[in-house]
Amino acid sequence: MLDRAEGIYMWDTDGKRYIDGSSGAMVSNIGHSNPAVLDAMRAQMKKSTFGYRLHFQTEASELLAAKTAALAPEGLNKIFFVSGGSEAVESTLKMARRYALTQGQSQRFKMISRYPSYHGCTLGALAITGYAPMAAPFDPMMMRMPKVAAPRAYLDGLDADDPATGLHYANMLEAKILEEGADTVLAFIVEPVGGASTGALVPPAGYMQRIREICTHYGVLLIHDEVMTGGGRTGHFFGAEHWGVVPDLVSISKGFGGGYVPLGAMIARDDIVEAVMSAGGFIQSFTYAGNPLACAAGCAVLDEIEKHDLTGNGARMGDVLAQRLHGLMQRYPLIGDVRGKGLLTAFELMADRDTKAPLPAALNAHSRLVDIAYDNGLIIYSRRTRGGTSGDHFLVCPPMIWCSRTRPATWLISCRSWAKAVAPVSN
Ligand code: PLP
Repeated sequence: MLDRAEGIYMWDTDGKRYIDGSSGAMVSNIGHSNPAVLDAMRAQMKKSTFGYRLHFQTEASELLAAKTAALAPEGLNKIFFVSGGSEAVESTLKMARRYALTQGQSQRFKMISRYPSYHGCTLGALAITGYAPMAAPFDPMMMRMPKVAAPRAYLDGLDADDPATGLHYANMLEAKILEEGADTVLAFIVEPVGGASTGALVPPAGYMQRIREICTHYGVLLIHDEVMTGGGRTGHFFGAEHWGVVPDLVSISKGFGGGYVPLGAMIARDDIVEAVMSAGGFIQSFTYAGNPLACAAGCAVLDEIEKHDLTGNGARMGDVLAQRLHGLMQRYPLIGDVRGKGLLTAFELMADRDTKAPLPAALNAHSRLVDIAYDNGLIIYSRRTRGGTSGDHFLVCPPMIWCSRTRPATWLISCRSWAKAVAPVSN
């Protein structure tokens, strides 16, 4: 039972303290109970906590839209607020479809995504999510969309730094578009750095750029799902900035509200929204969209990220964390891979590093390790997916304030906890 949380720490109702080693679900990027955010929320609460968006705009939502547009890539200035990641993804899908219709391309309805991937748990988002255990129980209620393999170079024995590897995986998208019929494909959605489904999978060199080229060539809209990567988590405000690629539509959520309020957004290319609006628009009406309290908190979260250069700190601490995890990898053969960008970092346990064989499922390593970490005062985020086949991976994603506000000893304690957590499983 959670009692309270502050900075990178959380306390349960028995008074036990934990390091929030995963920022919840990669959400609490600026840490818990940030005084500036709480003050901004209190100030907004005194003014108004709700104004229906069809009746009123609010200063808070206007300001957050302006701040978000300023951070977004050039040409993407249209912002629609929602209350979470699935809603943000759904909004991009609906916007893409309406845009195709305004362009006289009603035959374009297929949305290609990757396997594995995670885009949310509403039915539309599940149709493009590459994680069968969550989607299959609803078949055939919705049409599951075509998938291409996510580029897991480390499992395929390929060099992720070799541009030929990036081309190899990206060209699978081209093959899939041609197989489906290029004029039927509406969009391709990708997490710039993989999240829960792949465990911080970083695309190989040239992959993101080639994907952009392919989408442009075939008139396919490129959607970046930045629900987890957005908000500075990877060392840039948007994950795709690492590759200088500009998408057509973006979804953002988790770190955007920073765990203070349910908040997300669709960010869209200006001309897409203008074309849709001049054709009569469409109704996308979430009652809580643009809620003033959520937007005021969102503004304060963005201000804190900027004021304290938390994105930069996350990038620097991500390097330190990666070094430490590689150190653990040398000590424990069980750790088969360490990967990530900034503070979106993960390691994967394997029975055999050379063959990449996973640990036996019966070992239940992912949940055992979580329990051991809890006992050692550390909260971690684990998944056994590798696309539903194998693989225990652990996301190591502390808040981006890590070390900027706490004594350096904090993270040593954290690493000792990791070491303690791994040791019993490897014996
Ligand atoms: N997209 C990505 C990349 C995610 O990581 C998630 C959640 O983990 C979602 C979408 C869904 O977000 P939510 O759980 O807020 O609906």
